[in-house]
Amino acid sequence: MLYSDSTHLAVFGTTSLWPVYLSFGNQSKYERAKTTSNALHHIAYLPKLPDQVSQLIYKRTGKVAPTPLLAHCKQELMHAIWKLILGDSFEEVYRHGIIINCSDGITRHLYSRFFTYSADYPEKVLLATIRDMGAYPCLQCLVPKSSIHEIGYIRDANRHVDAAHIDNAWRRNKVETARKFIYDQGRGITSKAVEDQLQEQSLVPTENAFSSQLSKFLPNFHQLFGGKVAEFDHHFQMVPSFGTDTIRTFGSMKVSEMKKMAARNFEDILQCIIPIFNGLLPEPHNKIVIDLLFSTPSKPFKKEFNLQTYKIHSLGDYTDIISKIGTTDSYTTQTGECEHCNPELWFPMTSKRSFEKQLAHIEHRKTRMWQLEKTIPQHGLHDSHNIQLKRLHKQSFSEQISESISLFEHHHISKLFRNLISLPLWLHQHAKDPALKNFLLKLKIYLLSQLDSLKN
Ligand SMILES: [Zn+2]
Repeated sequence: MLYSDSTHLAVFGTTSLWPVYLSFGNQSKYERAKTTSNALHHIAYLPKLPDQVSQLIYKRTGKVAPTPLLAHCKQELMHAIWKLILGDSFEEVYRHGIIINCSDGITRHLYSRFFTYSADYPEKVLLATIRDMGAYPCLQCLVPKSSIHEIGYIRDANRHVDAAHIDNAWRRNKVETARKFIYDQGRGITSKAVEDQLQEQSLVPTENAFSSQLSKFLPNFHQLFGGKVAEFDHHFQMVPSFGTDTIRTFGSMKVSEMKKMAARNFEDILQCIIPIFNGLLPEPHNKIVIDLLFSTPSKPFKKEFNLQTYKIHSLGDYTDIISKIGTTDSYTTQTGECEHCNPELWFPMTSKRSFEKQLAHIEHRKTRMWQLEKTIPQHGLHDSHNIQLKRLHKQSFSEQISESISLFEHHHISKLFRNLISLPLWLHQHAKDPALKNFLLKLKIYLLSQLDSLKN
């Protein structure tokens, strides 16, 4: 079972991490959904589209990168990474299974299968390679956006089943043709030739990693998933400073991505918002927005309940999904969100530059230590004994440090009696060490000779 979601690592600023977590569906949900049970495994940290991409487009064309092009690049990057994850070795495991020595001591032949993928709507759209709230906004079926309000009608219930999104050769052909127009003939992402291929089913010109890597095994990956922003940011980046601290420059900051803003951030933005927006949108929208920004927005706006959302439509899927894969607490995105507290906790331990790799190292270390801890009871130690040993180890370690040992001493025997080592256990752990051949016998002879010499 997969989860992915982007998270903010710092209270201020835009530093974020985009982890993909994996959990095992055959582990009990009562254990799996608990943060403390370490049941969510970090399998990847997805990189964001580098800023150099929009800079390169600006350099080559002299224009700000259009939003559809950046959205396409983002989608391509996401699926390129998934193709790496679902590479040849994964295919091998998917086809033939893998032999794993499980923590209960039993060796099993396991077959990995994707059961669910929990993510928010914008992310599912990226994964399912369809358009965000396009004419057919659902990931599983072909419900027209204009019919979403029919939720509860029998015809809507039938649509969930009869008009299912299917990943077939026809669909893959459409995407391939559109990609040829873009990559071989240099047509635009939103050009008519491309749109003619894709618009009909709200598709996008990206080869789906789940489809290309797993279509042999996973007949329909859809079952797995239950405009102007760049230019806006660019305008802000071009704002020069004014006065000593009236207006500060925004540097390379992306205003559209700013989170957890303080009052001074709002002040900075509002001071120059009118020239930023001027000319950004086509008329008549430009005039409406500029007028709106000029007049103080003191009157509250009336917001009507919107029936045309994906959330409303997906209500119709619940009964069917629950009967197929179980109750929603098993695959809620909340589990993934709770796991975010770990990378957020580790982030201050990194140098905060290229931190993804450092976070991955910390995660590996934590997992390794947790696994080591798990191996202790396997040697037949009683739990309470185990806890006692741990406590002793902690104490003796701090006491050992306080005992000063000269570097010129050949060996040192601690005066403390707390640092216990179980000799049979220790010998068992080092059974393959040639230095310990006949160790116990030699030790006994040595001790006896020492006692004898004391007696004499
Ligand atoms: Zn649907």
